[in-house]
Amino acid sequence: MFFKLNHLLTTLENYIFPSSCAVCRQPGKALCPACRVRIPRLSAVCPGCACKNALGLFCADCQKTQNYSFDGLFSYGAYENKILKSALRALKYQGAREIGLILGKMLGRQLAGSWTKAPVSWLKQKPIIMPMPLHSRRQRERGFNQSLYITQGISALSGWPIDQKMRRLTYQAPSAKLNYHDRQKQNKIFSYPDQLPPNQVIIIVDDIITTGATTQAAANALKEVGAKIVIVATVAKSL
Ligand SMILES: [Zn+2]
Ligand SMILES: [Zn+2]
Repeated sequence: MFFKLNHLLTTLENYIFPSSCAVCRQPGKALCPACRVRIPRLSAVCPGCACKNALGLFCADCQKTQNYSFDGLFSYGAYENKILKSALRALKYQGAREIGLILGKMLGRQLAGSWTKAPVSWLKQKPIIMPMPLHSRRQRERGFNQSLYITQGISALSGWPIDQKMRRLTYQAPSAKLNYHDRQKQNKIFSYPDQLPPNQVIIIVDDIITTGATTQAAANALKEVGAKIVIVATVAKSL
């Protein structure tokens, strides 16, 4: 009787909350293992000259010439990959939290693995991970922040603490092409309410990076309140 009841409840639950892969529709996980392995990993490279390094940090040469506020960019896969694209669409437009957690764990596994390998002294400390915030109006419209789900996946895998205190002050996306005055304004897109602890390493988490303008503004805001190193981690990079 118990087993029958249990089975009935499971069937009922599956009927109410059918779980299937958002990409291939196979019953089971929100992103099935067969689809996951068909998302090739991008190698971590210097965002300036594309030379390989473990964490996607700017290399010594590019550090001298680059104008970015972030120190490295670590992306799991290419947005042009059809599977990754439809998984990210399901996450963003249907609020598929389970997909966010799965993608976050995939990204977190690579990131945490590289963290211990890269020969940089600040990697010895635990980073704080911050989801890229949405403007409060956008978050109300959407009902969730997809980057938070990815961040929760990374945290579940790595044990790194999550901080959600960064705020987004403007609703519109920033432009990639900016003059000096626009850049000054762009610094006001994000705010963080406190001073960060000394030598703090931050990882900003987002679903996708395209022009890097938004990311640049967020990294700027964190450097202004004392962040030592800001790494950007995204599930996808649009090439
Ligand atoms: Zn699938
Ligand atoms: Zn370089």
